[in-house]
Amino acid sequence: MANTQRAVFLDRDGVLNQEVGYIHALEDLNLIPGVAEAVRRLNQANLFCCLVTNQSGPARSYYGIDHVDALHQRLTHLLAVEAGARLDAIYCCPYLSPSAGGVNPEFTRWSTWRKPNTGMLVAAAWDHHLDLQQSFMVGDKATDVDMARNAGCRGILVQTGYGDRVLSGDYQHHAQPDYIARDLADAVGWILADESL
Ligand SMILES: [Mg+2]
Repeated sequence: MANTQRAVFLDRDGVLNQEVGYIHALEDLNLIPGVAEAVRRLNQANLFCCLVTNQSGPARSYYGIDHVDALHQRLTHLLAVEAGARLDAIYCCPYLSPSAGGVNPEFTRWSTWRKPNTGMLVAAAWDHHLDLQQSFMVGDKATDVDMARNAGCRGILVQTGYGDRVLSGDYQHHAQPDYIARDLADAVGWILADESL
């Protein structure tokens, strides 16, 4: 089957929910205003909405993988109740190399899934017949934009989360996004204005 479906890949922290560091309490995961409505617009445009998130908490022994699953259940619940929005798939990388701080042996390894590597995007493309070159990645870090470019997607940097600090040069490194958006709603407006859609 040809890879013909177009996707919008979404980072989690700082794009969908407020960036508050490692989230130990479920109630500390809260959506950024306008996000649920923006995701629903993507759903209505028949773009495949795919979460792609690095979550190194389990590798750092901050909490278990079941806690990450519970956070994603809360995230999908909030999207649904606020605007009837849905994520079509969730890809999460819990792995971290020892040199980067991994300590729990179950999750401590170098992984092609960890951004800015492209493993999550490649897996999603295989699983769901996605055309990466016709797809978009929305993130708040330079590493999100790097992953988009590494995979041939268009990369959008939002100014929520770490985005403003990336742009001012005091977080990570210089990024070369295809578009800089105020927030996810602005990013979705830019995506839906694409004439090829
Ligand atoms: Mg983020």
